[in-house]
Amino acid sequence: MHHTESAEPRILGDHTWHNHAACRSTPAHPVDVEIFFPEPEEMDRIRAAKALCAQCLVRRTCLDAALENVDRFGIRGGMTEEEREPLHENLPSRLDYGRVNTVLAGRDIHLTTAERRSATRAAFQAGIPADRLAWLLKITQEHAEKLYRQVRRETRNRAVDEHQNNDTSWSAPAPGRDELGTAA
Ligand code: SF4
Repeated sequence: MHHTESAEPRILGDHTWHNHAACRSTPAHPVDVEIFFPEPEEMDRIRAAKALCAQCLVRRTCLDAALENVDRFGIRGGMTEEEREPLHENLPSRLDYGRVNTVLAGRDIHLTTAERRSATRAAFQAGIPADRLAWLLKITQEHAEKLYRQVRRETRNRAVDEHQNNDTSWSAPAPGRDELGTAA
């Protein structure tokens, strides 16, 4: 029975997962790493590489690392360059709430653009101070305050839209404390 890969995404800079890679060549388990860089028509190599990936304990981590590092060459995580291409293209919009929550819990992992936006909104709603958000996202406090201002603006715009849809005689709400410039 295989071990299942940890659901926890790896911490940035953590390469210890390499130790569990099925493609790691050792004297007891020699691997021709060239099979991971096949020519497009080399189906035997592609099949051999994918067979190793299929039994690899860190396949998901390997695929994530390839995407995050924009590593477009070779077979990674069981996928060829061509198969991975759409994932590379769509990565900024990938939204995995598990990863968002992992960062909010204080772990240092890679977030996509959409996940950072989601983390900012969640942190704002949870009342997390800007300096803590700055630490979590590894940005300056000034930048974190700017992100919170954007969230407040979006929240206000949504409220405006909802009121306009529900009530044609709506007038602008009184500004909140933050809008008066007492924060940020
Ligand atoms: S998924 Fe494939 S390429 Fe990635 S570490 Fe495992 S065997 Fe190697």
